[in-house]
Amino acid sequence: MNFENTREFAQQLDAKDELRNYRDEFFFPKVNGKEVIYFTGNSLGLQSKRTKTYVDEVMTDWANLAVEGHFYSEKPWWDYHERFAAPLSVIVGAKPCEITVMNTLTVNLHLMMVSFYRPTAKKYKIICEEKAFPSDQYMFQSQVKFHGLDPKDAIVEIKRREGEHNIRLEDVLAKIEEVGDALALVLIGGVNYYTGQVFDMKTITAAGHKQGAYVGWDLAHAAGNIELKLHDWDVDFAVWCSYKYMNSGPGNASGCFIHEKHHNNADLPRFAGWYGHNKERRFKMEPDFDPVHGADGWQISNLPILSLAPYLASVEMFSEIGMEKIIAKRNLITAYLEFILHEVDKEIEGTEFEVITPSSQEERGCQLSVFLHGQGRDLFDYLMKNGVITDWREPNVIRLAPAPLYCSFEDMYEFGQILKKGICK
Ligand SMILES: *Cc1c(COP(=O)(O)O)cnc(C)c1O
Repeated sequence: MNFENTREFAQQLDAKDELRNYRDEFFFPKVNGKEVIYFTGNSLGLQSKRTKTYVDEVMTDWANLAVEGHFYSEKPWWDYHERFAAPLSVIVGAKPCEITVMNTLTVNLHLMMVSFYRPTAKKYKIICEEKAFPSDQYMFQSQVKFHGLDPKDAIVEIKRREGEHNIRLEDVLAKIEEVGDALALVLIGGVNYYTGQVFDMKTITAAGHKQGAYVGWDLAHAAGNIELKLHDWDVDFAVWCSYKYMNSGPGNASGCFIHEKHHNNADLPRFAGWYGHNKERRFKMEPDFDPVHGADGWQISNLPILSLAPYLASVEMFSEIGMEKIIAKRNLITAYLEFILHEVDKEIEGTEFEVITPSSQEERGCQLSVFLHGQGRDLFDYLMKNGVITDWREPNVIRLAPAPLYCSFEDMYEFGQILKKGICK
């Protein structure tokens, strides 16, 4: 498609956008009395108006039923989490029995390490990406130390080549091969939080398995953003948070995938709790742990229903639309944003907006990370003051994620105008 940097053209794209009505389903913060252009759905998604209904339902049931709400509320709490399995399994490409929601992301990473990182004298190394999200790095280091190992020896990072922003697939595969028999686990962010690079999860998973390692994925920036086929790719486990692209609210519950081939493996250790226990017998309060077959068998506590309610509202919205439509709009709006950036860039002497996110649609989701050559933090501050919510990452990168559910093409055009003013002020 030949894009144009005009309001009329952007409005035409909006008129043709199948998802355009969903924009009205969200609350937008206001700056100077105007709704903002929101580019940080990759950090905290906007609140959808449906959310309140779901939360109110739990509040009302709690008020009216108290403890009886576990069994007799509109959506009983004792198995509330099971409502996620079917819709989420479609979103991440899994079987319903492979999905559960529980805890928060980093906590679930630790729990998955209990089952899937069991180092021996010969097989103890973890491969991850260089500059992984800090929480993941701290998690790796503490896990390795917990097993009495030295992080410097046990954690192997895949590096970017000098002068390159993204990690090459061939370098990931070479590193897996090089570590070979010593490799216990590969655990990488499926979409890198800083660059927006999408990894070839299928190929990397197969390569890790060839060395007899487990392969897991942190899908914080992938869930609700890119196409996933976790079951078919034969991924061992994956975890994600729900408050980024999936709009479930600050610090909210995490989703977890455990491949069905592991469900009946009694040798896999896990940290247990009563909500992972046989559903029919859970309230008989017996002493011996008999796990639920399926990912639910990794549950520990009775669930925080007030945080699951907004996540359920979101999951239902995603499944009503379907990832296919979300991805189609994502590709178009991200391409339009990239076009706008280059148009502004061309008009202004001395700047260069270098998009460090890969240019192919297979290797990116809806985030563009932009290196602002010739500009600095002032520009970022100007954008924020003028209603463009983005984020700043050292040394000089802003991340722009036009979430397809609520960002419009006109937002992209308007952003270009504000950007130009911010530079020429
Ligand atoms: C957002 C994010 C986290 C945050 O973890 P929480 O436990 O939810 O605070 C962790 N890892 C990655 C890769 C992320 O993008």
